[in-house]
Amino acid sequence: RQAAYAALREVHPTTRDGTRIQVMINAGLRDDIANLTMTGADGIGLFRTEFQFLVSATLPSRERQTRLYREVMDAAGDKPVKFRTVDIGGDKTLPYLRHDDGEGEENPAMGWRALRVALEREGLLKVQARALLEAAGGRTLHVMFPLVAEPWEFDQAKAVFDKQLAFLRSQKKQLPEAIHYGIMLEVPALAEQLDLLAPKISFLSIGTNDLTQFLFAADRANPKLAERYDWLSPAILRFLRRVIRSVDGHDVDIAVCGEMGGRRLEALALLGLGIRRLSITPAAVGPTKDLVSKVDLQEIGTAMEQWLAHPPEDMRAALTAWAAERGI
Ligand code: PEP
Ligand code: MG
Repeated sequence: RQAAYAALREVHPTTRDGTRIQVMINAGLRDDIANLTMTGADGIGLFRTEFQFLVSATLPSRERQTRLYREVMDAAGDKPVKFRTVDIGGDKTLPYLRHDDGEGEENPAMGWRALRVALEREGLLKVQARALLEAAGGRTLHVMFPLVAEPWEFDQAKAVFDKQLAFLRSQKKQLPEAIHYGIMLEVPALAEQLDLLAPKISFLSIGTNDLTQFLFAADRANPKLAERYDWLSPAILRFLRRVIRSVDGHDVDIAVCGEMGGRRLEALALLGLGIRRLSITPAAVGPTKDLVSKVDLQEIGTAMEQWLAHPPEDMRAALTAWAAERGI
């Protein structure tokens, strides 16, 4: 099987009815870049910039950050890299970055983390913005903000980038050729206002790891709860359908970058919902390309519509049977 997947390296994943599906990888460290060539993925759909912070004893300097982002873009060549601004705080605490009160948090996953930290410690985001903008001089930059809950959070984060861009322009530095801003949809509340944010963003990446823990109020890190909900639950699938529909008619690319997208039946369900971009763990790229080549989108789309209108008792069993009947 491994050899079969390796043979898929050069294959551009296309469904049986001829739709090209973007299969990208999640990454975070310099060493992960090699996975791009190894898998033949379409790009890096989630680059977790906080990894550089987590492996460092001190706050990474602007120069160090610029070097890393440049190396990643160099290695990716024409393939897009979506840089997620730092998602630290919460359970990923850093000795050099602490909350003012110095206290631990009772619910770190829904605490002082990600954009909440970055907007409060503006210096952090400012430095990261400068580093990303400089590294992307002469090319296209994709920036993605994590854990956005309200549209104003996006506005504030983008304003930090705008300010740095203006500064670089005044310094006559080489600017990016284009900048695409996007957000991660991880907080359910944002879904209710997504239509308002849609005109301002180029892309949206659904982080199903955090999203499902918040939807089900079930800590993603607690093994006791792992069996409590299923990614194939109608609640999740209906929610995702609503998210997809709420950006309908806007020029917004939607991807799924949570672990869900790297699993066979889950990926099938996502294709059925209309998702055409997945960012997944590198090991799942071969199997996902293989899956894509066997699927008829029309067919899975119709099946999914029926399942969501009248959910079967066991969605996983229904999808398993559907796939087996078609030799998928
Ligand atoms: C997610 O929450 O689904 C996600 C991709 O981000 P992370 O796993 O880094 O929180
Ligand atoms: Mg997340």
